[in-house]
Amino acid sequence: MHTSSDFPYGVLTLDTHHMGRTHVVASYVLFGDEPAIVDPGPASTLPQIEAGLAQHDMSLADIKHVVLTHIHLDHAGATGGIVERNPSVQVHVHTRGASHLIDPSRLLNSAAQLYGDQMDALWGRTVPVPQAAITTLTGGERLNLGGRTLQAYDSPGHAKHHLVWHDDESGAAFVGDNVGVRLPLLHFARPATPPPDVDLEAWLGTLDMILGLKPRWLMLTHFGGFNDVDFHVADFRKRLLHWADLVRDGLASGLSETELGVAFVAQAEAEAATLSEEERAAMTQQSGAIISSWRGLARYWQKKAAQ
Ligand SMILES: [Zn+2]
Repeated sequence: MHTSSDFPYGVLTLDTHHMGRTHVVASYVLFGDEPAIVDPGPASTLPQIEAGLAQHDMSLADIKHVVLTHIHLDHAGATGGIVERNPSVQVHVHTRGASHLIDPSRLLNSAAQLYGDQMDALWGRTVPVPQAAITTLTGGERLNLGGRTLQAYDSPGHAKHHLVWHDDESGAAFVGDNVGVRLPLLHFARPATPPPDVDLEAWLGTLDMILGLKPRWLMLTHFGGFNDVDFHVADFRKRLLHWADLVRDGLASGLSETELGVAFVAQAEAEAATLSEEERAAMTQQSGAIISSWRGLARYWQKKAAQ
């Protein structure tokens, strides 16, 4: 078994070196008659995308499509900048996410509450995407990239506007954040469950859907391609359910949200203490704070209780 990042045929893994670090945010280039970028990453790392393309004698002018799994800033923030530079690019996004591309102000405001004066350094200049550049989908569509086709699948759970894209030719499934965060060569996947959309039932359905595709590769944004598909999904599902249970039990204890958040982070860090150094980094440093995952799961349970 190997877990190399760029094995699927005609798929290039680009490391965006987010905040100068490797293996945090991946972007994918699909070669072919109509080259495409899947999840170009945050606006702040667009120069890294250009540098990666240049190594293959390409530039943004060659890109025909931007294909989005979902519109979170670490996946789609660069989209407006790409269209600004190449207005002929077509952007493919879930119907429920399109409005946040056209007017990112709400997305940016809620991110600003979380990241404050770190916004610029983290995400760069996120510019609107013109409506005319956008094609919306709900899952079930086939996207023709000039001889290469991607099949779109509705995949709620991490976000209600999430799509999984399956490339028949390479067997790669671009799964965005639906199967968590994992570093190359590690046998360990952690959930990323930020507010506001986390939906556990929908998420478990999405995991079954992904397994049903029988993909040869899971292409994670955080980070890279993995071909031990059954192991990965099972390991991720186990940890997602474990975290969800911890948050639910905490909420039932009557402690304050601040106390619960602190306790949850401590629990996750204690779990990480038994892991290797790299696994510990994957758990506690890569791609989003654990407290944000507590908030997303807490919000899910609170919404469910109010129903
Ligand atoms: Zn996300």
